[in-house]
Amino acid sequence: LDDEVPAPKRRQDRAHQEPQPFAERVTPGGFPNTPDTDPAVPANRAWGRQILARVPGSTLGEAAVAAAMVPDEEALETVMATAAEHGKAWGALSGAERAEVLHRAGAALEAARARLLEVMAAETGKTLDQGDPEVSEAVDFAHYYAECARELDAVDGARFLPSKVTVVTPPWNFPVAIPAGSTLAALAAGSAVVIKPAHQASRCGAVMVEALWEALQQSGVPRELVQLVQLSEQGLGRQLIAHPEVDRVVLTGAYETAALFRSFRPDLPLLAETSGKNAIIVTPSADFDLAARDVVQSAFSHAGQKCSAASLVILVGSAARSPRFRNQLVDAVTSLKVGYPADATTQMGPVIEPPRGKLLSGLTTLGDGESWLLKPVPLDGSGRLWSPGVRTGVRRGSHYHQTEFFGPILGVMTAKTLEEAVEMQNEVDYGLTAGLHSLDGQELDYWLQHVQAGNLYVNRGVTGAIVRRQPFGGWKKSAVGAGTKAGGPNYLIGLGGWESAPAAA
Ligand code: GLU
Repeated sequence: LDDEVPAPKRRQDRAHQEPQPFAERVTPGGFPNTPDTDPAVPANRAWGRQILARVPGSTLGEAAVAAAMVPDEEALETVMATAAEHGKAWGALSGAERAEVLHRAGAALEAARARLLEVMAAETGKTLDQGDPEVSEAVDFAHYYAECARELDAVDGARFLPSKVTVVTPPWNFPVAIPAGSTLAALAAGSAVVIKPAHQASRCGAVMVEALWEALQQSGVPRELVQLVQLSEQGLGRQLIAHPEVDRVVLTGAYETAALFRSFRPDLPLLAETSGKNAIIVTPSADFDLAARDVVQSAFSHAGQKCSAASLVILVGSAARSPRFRNQLVDAVTSLKVGYPADATTQMGPVIEPPRGKLLSGLTTLGDGESWLLKPVPLDGSGRLWSPGVRTGVRRGSHYHQTEFFGPILGVMTAKTLEEAVEMQNEVDYGLTAGLHSLDGQELDYWLQHVQAGNLYVNRGVTGAIVRRQPFGGWKKSAVGAGTKAGGPNYLIGLGGWESAPAAA
């Protein structure tokens, strides 16, 4: 019996131990999520400091990717033709054969962890504590979709038909996990991939793709199967999306981008995870200490630049009437250390570029009845480093209530009852994440029956989905297309088609 008791989870020492291979971590029926780097291990903190020593102090690394730029339509034609040619051979392999390659990709991404953390910090301003789980998620995607690829072989009465070419257009805010996840899913489903990293995160995309190429080469698969194209903001986007060779596009980005892609090609098979306007409800029964911690984490980690981020907290009943929760919130937000990621003590980093448009107005102007609990201010001349902002008095139906800002601002709303709070939570176009802090079972039941969002979190922050345990996908205008959840059991199905198997003679 003793042999069957799993060994206690070891504290991973990134600096001095080889990561435990996936195959050795699997338990029957389980999926072992990749452990993040544990900062309680002193060697890991030293490892982190070594990474940060290579990250510029306060400027963002300018993306020097000119060499990889796709300059014109002719070059893009070559990319597409090459992908299509390699997609055919790859799609003819069994799911089990592809799974072997994906597991290697997981190991290659793990081996690149330090380098990935460095480029994420340098290029996008991501702090190590935010970047590290992102690498773990990318590794998880590889191993998880490998297992899903095997399952495609086992469906009775039908044969899975892979796409030939899948275009992947990830965002800059998760510049490793999302491009890796989308690419690995398409590969697992038997398709070639043309990936266009966000132009603000082109180096992150390149380092991630290099890890995948290494795994392909180790497996004897031509690296041309994954084509990396770097386009400028005004580049060949339309040609890429509307290209006849493209079977599917996987997009994570703004709702407007999904609409733009559709305008390029109305019949485009699109799998898109789009915008969010997410709220956490705090009821009087909640543990206020936990709620304040989770609201702050959800609103301000990565400076609020996540589509999953909390942009609103809705206080119910006495939680709204008494100043206690607001005071706790203000204390917690004030204590956040804002800075650049090269400084290991930074808790909230810079925004990706000096705010303009919607975000600038959100940081600087108040709507009717609103006032600042904490007024956001620029902290240096770069225009990118802002103190976190908290506004109160946000009214139902107001501009702040219904707009996604994608930055370090949080609004406080109040409701008399939980019913009213849930209406406010639902009264937005999007439905990505939603949170409830409550220790009352009846409140929880009510909320679960009425809330409209793809990802629900109770007594926890609303960011940081986990592969297989908490697959991630949106509802309403937070998803366009197939609407299956990334990191969940049906994701690959949206990336191909089915053919009935011929009846046995
Ligand atoms: N999957 C991420 C999370 O759960 C959010 C992805 C995004 O912001 O696009 O926090």
